[in-house]
Amino acid sequence: MRAKFLFLGTGGSAGVPMIGCKCDVCQSPSSYNKRHRTAGLLKVNGKNFLIDVGPEFRIQALHFHIEDLTAVLLTHAHADHIAGIDDLRAYYFLHKVKLPCVLSKETFDEVTLRYHYLLKPLTSGKSISAQIDFQILPKDFGEYEVAGLGFKYLTYFQQGMKVTGFIFGNFAYVSDIRQYSDEVVKNLQGIDILVLSALRQKPTQMHFSVEEAIAFARLVGAKKTYLTHISHDLEYAATNASLPSDVLLSYDGLEIPIQISDKDIQ
Ligand SMILES: [Zn+2]
Ligand SMILES: [Zn+2]
Repeated sequence: MRAKFLFLGTGGSAGVPMIGCKCDVCQSPSSYNKRHRTAGLLKVNGKNFLIDVGPEFRIQALHFHIEDLTAVLLTHAHADHIAGIDDLRAYYFLHKVKLPCVLSKETFDEVTLRYHYLLKPLTSGKSISAQIDFQILPKDFGEYEVAGLGFKYLTYFQQGMKVTGFIFGNFAYVSDIRQYSDEVVKNLQGIDILVLSALRQKPTQMHFSVEEAIAFARLVGAKKTYLTHISHDLEYAATNASLPSDVLLSYDGLEIPIQISDKDIQ
């Protein structure tokens, strides 16, 4: 079945422009150089699956008219990926349905710590919370189904923080990857479309460089790779022009077609 993936945000944890930065990219008038924090929306069979809910989620939801969410999938608990979790309240107010949210045990523990009020039982009939149905992934690698969508998931690390990646049909979403096992590579082997984080030209302790991301894409044999989680180090047009033809810089608002097997979606 044909599906679509919409890049809601493609910026690093500081976003682009960065507050107070006077560099050429931060001051660029091009919309390709304006990046909200990294998140995406998988649209399939009339359903909307949100990947990560960062600090700009409300702005992204208003801009892209996301008035319906079927489920949320979280990669990990750094603020740039979960700080908008409170804004999921809107969907409970609108639809009065608990929103399924898939995440690892480690991400759940962090969310519980920081957003403990989201998990408290209601004392009155009126809900003021996001009313989230947290669903913990049972293992580090495996298959799962949420709201009629079947997918594979995998686990890698970013400086001690466990991060979850997702595979939907011929498409994989792998953000905030730094350390990974052979099993990650094995699971991604032969993927058609890979969304992969690359912060800047030089590697950091937390992120791949562009060069490392290209090497990783080669390792798994992705046919096409879209880089995301991009800092102000990378000017859109200049960087894109320097990349191999199967690797592209993504941008906020980019929508790409993907393919989900009919058996994986109801
Ligand atoms: Zn991040
Ligand atoms: Zn800058």
